[in-house]
Amino acid sequence: MEREKAESRIKELREKINYHNRQYYVYDSPVISDAEYDKLMRELENLEREFPELVTPDSPTQRVGGEPLASFRQVTHRVPMMSLSDAFDEGDLKDFHRRVTETVGDKVEYVAELKIDGLAVSLTYENGLLTTAATRGDGTVGEDVTQNIKTIKSVPLRLDFPDDKKPSIIEVRGEVYLPKDGFKKLNEEREDMELPLFANPRNAAAGSLRQLDPKVTASRPLSTFMYALGYVEGVEFSTHYEVLEFYKACGFRVNPNIVVFDNFSEVIEYCMSWREKRDTLPYEIDGIVIKVNSLEQQRTLGFTSKSPRWAIAYKFPAEQKTTVIKDIIVRVGRTGVLTPTAELEPVRIAGSTVSRATLHNEDYIKEKDIRIGDTVVVQKAGDIIPEVVEVIKEKRTGKEQVFKMPHRCPECGAEAIRLPGEAAYRCTGVSCPAQIRRSIIHFASRDAMDIRGLGPAIVSLLLSERLIKDAADIYKLTREDLVPLERMGEKSAANLLAAIENSKNQPLNRLIYALGIPFIGTKAASILADAFGSIENLEKASYEQLVEIPEIGDKMAESIITFFKQDQTKNLLSRLKAAGVSMKGENKKQGPTPLAGLTFVLTGTLEHYTRSQATEIIENLGGRVAGSVSKNTDYVLAGKEPGSKYDKAVKLGVKIIDEQQFMEMIIQHEQNL
Ligand code: NAD
Repeated sequence: MEREKAESRIKELREKINYHNRQYYVYDSPVISDAEYDKLMRELENLEREFPELVTPDSPTQRVGGEPLASFRQVTHRVPMMSLSDAFDEGDLKDFHRRVTETVGDKVEYVAELKIDGLAVSLTYENGLLTTAATRGDGTVGEDVTQNIKTIKSVPLRLDFPDDKKPSIIEVRGEVYLPKDGFKKLNEEREDMELPLFANPRNAAAGSLRQLDPKVTASRPLSTFMYALGYVEGVEFSTHYEVLEFYKACGFRVNPNIVVFDNFSEVIEYCMSWREKRDTLPYEIDGIVIKVNSLEQQRTLGFTSKSPRWAIAYKFPAEQKTTVIKDIIVRVGRTGVLTPTAELEPVRIAGSTVSRATLHNEDYIKEKDIRIGDTVVVQKAGDIIPEVVEVIKEKRTGKEQVFKMPHRCPECGAEAIRLPGEAAYRCTGVSCPAQIRRSIIHFASRDAMDIRGLGPAIVSLLLSERLIKDAADIYKLTREDLVPLERMGEKSAANLLAAIENSKNQPLNRLIYALGIPFIGTKAASILADAFGSIENLEKASYEQLVEIPEIGDKMAESIITFFKQDQTKNLLSRLKAAGVSMKGENKKQGPTPLAGLTFVLTGTLEHYTRSQATEIIENLGGRVAGSVSKNTDYVLAGKEPGSKYDKAVKLGVKIIDEQQFMEMIIQHEQNL
């Protein structure tokens, strides 16, 4: 390839990979399969190998893909948590062995382990007690998930050290994962609750652990396998296997399928044998990790900027078959996203019959030039939804049809729009049957119109009994409609009707949020309510007026404009108005205000917030920040080296909280959002 072409392709690949890294590591919500991702990465690696002068330190080939979420306290790892370089076939494995032996000589022992499909964590024990648990993050800085990790039963809180080995500090690393049945159950529950499904067990495990509320983590059947040493003081180990034996003795779960080999051809055999056997395990694995056993040899081999030179991950190939696309249909998901799906001539892949494959979005179809009638290669890896990998263009007859993404929702006919920066088209129809249940539940939810008693189950019942068709119909419900319903009765019906009546006077910000305008959360709704004062004004607002508000970006502005343009929206609003729902902002602004009426005083240096950030958080949650301590102060938030305000608080008996307690207060609030 010419240099100029390579340069532009490298740029394109980096942008794509960075986008997928964010979806995968930050949001736990990948849009392409791992095999597809690995293909992009390999193409980039090959180009960078061909044009080494184009390698930059921020290229995804040079750094660990994740980044810590700002809502967690951050933990700097004592020793970086790295990625692993990949091997996709026997040749890659042999190359690895060759590189190792060139550096450390022929006498090498390898430890082969299953590559568990979960997320890496690092657990620090000081004098045997668990003090910190962190995710990998960007490899240097991870997220503090100590409270969440403590809810996982297989993680010992105190270690049983054998008599001869008692490290003062030890950082134990391993994988947190969700067993296959737990993953299936979790997705079934999410489907019932109309929440987006997790793409695979790894993302489900990561999503379960990276929760602000440890109670959510505790409710998920997470488990662990420990497999690496991060840092240790007070004990010496000479081999990796010895470390694993020590872990077992301390009470950690260590995978039983770990084997030491002194012959590399046996390592290859081990890798290949698990390709077949992986389906028999109760958890998902995506490959085999091979590590040099001697820690001395590991030190000699060292690291690249991204991964150790003494280990490699052999990735199982996704199973592929050829079939024909009979049709492309568009499905409307729970969040209104339109997903094109290929209807296939059924084929058996990886133990199941596949008759559908996701085509993800418009760009994916265009990029691969997928047409109706095409013969295609379809693949399935693990529990992941099957996908079309490539079109066999030589098999085209000329009869294939180019697919066009509809600009109207196939369910309700409302306009489907593609917002800037998004790959997906979304239905904008407020009464789209595919979205209706979810939108009514949202409308009635706590931070929206707060109609107590109108939860998911009753909404489903009202819809199936045809008593409501959209949110405005809620206001037409009568005692006679409700009392005969299953598990309802006089009292609940009366309570529900009272809650519905009360909701008519909810403040404007809540109504704006309740409408479920894409990208408008509670905060944006409050800003819009303050800025426009009524639904009527907001409806008339131009794009320019909207983006003039500092907190309202392009995406939000476009979403608001499109939303109010819809006939369905106009109809809904006029019926809400006729029902007596307040459409103006005359009521006092009222977001979720868990700190309402509380006065805080700040003193000392906070580790995670500046003073103004902490003040903003308190004020956003309804609290007040005062400059000096008095007996009217509810809390003094004390950071490091607090000043005289601290002494005064002690004297007056005012409650003093540290940053951790403050964060817990906020976390409780965030969970309620
Ligand atoms: P990796 O998953 O290839 O390997 C490193 C990880 O393996 C470790 O962090 C650890 O979590 C895990 N692991 C499991 N068992 C292990 C064991 N016994 N010993 C050591 N480690 C073990 O590397 P990565 O940097 O975490 O992720 C890159 C991979 O993630 C890609 O190759 C791709 O498969 C996937 N990915 C997919 C997307 C997507 O959009 N689908 C995006 C980004 C990354």
